[in-house]
Amino acid sequence: MISDRVRVVLLTQAIGPLDYRLPENMDAKPGCVVTVPLGPRKLPGVVWDADVFTDSPVEAKKLRSVLELVECPPIGPGLRRLVDWVADYYLTSHAAVLRMVLASSAAFTASGTITEYRRTGYEPARLTPQRAAALDALEDAQGLVRELAAEAGVSDAVIRGLIKVGAFEPVIISVDTPFPEPLADFAVPELNAAQCAAADALTAAVRKGGFDTFVLDGVTGSGKTETYFEAVAEAIRLNKQVLVLLPEIALTQPFLQRFEKRFGVEPAVWHSNMRSTQRRRAWRAVADGSAKVLVGARSALFLPFRNPGLIIVDEAHETSFKQEDGVRYHARDVAVMRGRFEGFPVVLASATPALESRHMVSIGRYKGLEIPARFGTAKMPEIKAIDLTLDAPERQHWIAPTLLKALEERIDRGEQSLLFLNRRGFAPLTLCRTCGHRFQCPNCTSWMVEHRLVRRLACHHCGHVMPPPEQCPECGDSDTLVACGPGVERICDEVNRLLPDARTIVATSDTLWSPEKAAEFVARVENKAVDIIIGTQLVTKGYHFPELTLVGVIDADLGLEGGDLRAAERTFQQIAQAAGRAGRGDKSGEVFIQTRSPNHPVIAALVAGDRDAFYDAEIEQRRSAGAPPFGRFAAIIISSEDEREAIEAARAVGGAAPTAEGMYVYGPAPAPLAMLRGRYRQRLLVHAQRSVEIQSIIRDWLGGLQFPRGVRIGVDVDPYSFL
Ligand code: ADP
Ligand code: ZN
Ligand code: ZN
Repeated sequence: MISDRVRVVLLTQAIGPLDYRLPENMDAKPGCVVTVPLGPRKLPGVVWDADVFTDSPVEAKKLRSVLELVECPPIGPGLRRLVDWVADYYLTSHAAVLRMVLASSAAFTASGTITEYRRTGYEPARLTPQRAAALDALEDAQGLVRELAAEAGVSDAVIRGLIKVGAFEPVIISVDTPFPEPLADFAVPELNAAQCAAADALTAAVRKGGFDTFVLDGVTGSGKTETYFEAVAEAIRLNKQVLVLLPEIALTQPFLQRFEKRFGVEPAVWHSNMRSTQRRRAWRAVADGSAKVLVGARSALFLPFRNPGLIIVDEAHETSFKQEDGVRYHARDVAVMRGRFEGFPVVLASATPALESRHMVSIGRYKGLEIPARFGTAKMPEIKAIDLTLDAPERQHWIAPTLLKALEERIDRGEQSLLFLNRRGFAPLTLCRTCGHRFQCPNCTSWMVEHRLVRRLACHHCGHVMPPPEQCPECGDSDTLVACGPGVERICDEVNRLLPDARTIVATSDTLWSPEKAAEFVARVENKAVDIIIGTQLVTKGYHFPELTLVGVIDADLGLEGGDLRAAERTFQQIAQAAGRAGRGDKSGEVFIQTRSPNHPVIAALVAGDRDAFYDAEIEQRRSAGAPPFGRFAAIIISSEDEREAIEAARAVGGAAPTAEGMYVYGPAPAPLAMLRGRYRQRLLVHAQRSVEIQSIIRDWLGGLQFPRGVRIGVDVDPYSFL
């Protein structure tokens, strides 16, 4: 009997797909969510298409039965093919990918109501220190007991105790509350000719349905959002669902407001900082098709849309769309594949498209749509380089006289400025003047970065923190520790000293760590309560501040130093995006780029405003090096807490490297980030021509090896990080 046998993919990584018997009265087709027995346990899984896996079937009489069919919309065939593809292409398991699809408990429990708790305002007279701390930390919080406990850093019992004495009260939440319907014609803008042409192409594609990929390439301030909103509107009219992917949560708040202005209501959102009730509600509404538009971080890509009609990837060049842990996938590329499997258009919007995307346009695989000028009367800013060797700041200062003068002018005129430096904290390195001791992370090959605002040193790789040291741990001297180099906080100090009247704000992921904080920041800038923003790449994208007329790039050479594959491209994009914040309103903008090498092709192209020249030169370099998009890379990362073990495992991998025509294997060698979170790391790099099937080669290669338990092997296909 074939028909009563089903293949089930469990959500547990270590266990492959298993066969089960389907009870007679149960109709569980591929895509259905079920629970099955495994040993004494009851586990969730999804019935999968039997022909996807090639291993031989288990004997019929050994099969155990599926326990129950969960009441949940089934995972459709298009999304199942996407899961197959991601597992295959990125060399991971179906389980790992499927966990991102079933990313909420809403998948396994029928919806209904849920009880959250919030403060009543009543404060018992006598409190244990833990309870007092929890009350303090949870002033405006609301959530499940578990979530509140985690937020306050106390045990569940502390919260339950506080509920019992009446300091918290229950709030009943319906997870079925539907999302309001966006109105396609709520506030339709009048588009200019270039916007109109692009919007027409997009709406036509949405109407026609079927797969297509567009690169919406418009200069900063050209109105890309207004333009692709027309495609969103068309999908809404057709009763299809839309996913808008954004690179940072920090960007969502202003985006939501803009969306509401255009469509009358806020869209559904999805990101990792949501409470579990919010996740449940969004997950269900996406799955049953009632959430028409969802705006999310990259993980939203795997949600089970019932009737998807369009994906927009905004700021599509952003490298943060590449996930670096767990399943290492690139959301931009997976979005395109999803459009292909489910048959709808995908739009990659950017003022500085990735080289790969531009290349796809040039070979005719993607369609290019251009908006070459800013909207309205706004002009592109004028960009100038400041040669730091000639126009040097004072010692232990980083703002050149020319830039300082420009900042003063803006303050006199009541205009705003942005100083861009892609380095969080106060100083990237602290060292002892007496003995040369450097403060290094005990778990990683990296310096401890001083964060003066919160008074501690922090490792940006593993999160290890320590209080600022009073004396050198090596020689015991005190008052000998010096901060080396600047981070944004130090630039802020410098501005405060040189321009004491300027109102400054530091904008990084440390200060804008939640959508609320980001919204607060935007409001302060918009209300002109800020003169100078000092920020990292976080503030270079998406924001539209009409009164901002000056951008200063503190250190343009920083990004070029590492010299990896995309260093030049990334530096170009970052500076172009930062520059793109200047002069977006009626007043013209000015940009100064501080550099020690004004003749570097990246800087020269930015100053000349010659984007095409830069891209053309860069693509030729990639072509001659056989680098992406002309060839492909895959990194193999071997790690262990034991250094010898890591080295030996890496040697074994290197020794077993297969030979294949058009493929080269480099390494093993210690990774540049030789230790990370207490694990020693070795790397190999596979470089191959596009025609080589590297996935199956690597799968066979690594599958044939055995490693000690403490060794972890990770494969990063199309890597963005080479550390
Ligand atoms: P981009 O994303 O291309 O940098 P935006 O979409 O942020 O540009 O647009 C820049 C500014 O111009 C925004 O304030 C936007 O509301 C405004 N804008 C763009 N196009 C239009 C239009 N057709 N009608 C009215 N305002 C527009
Ligand atoms: Zn010392
Ligand atoms: Zn660390």
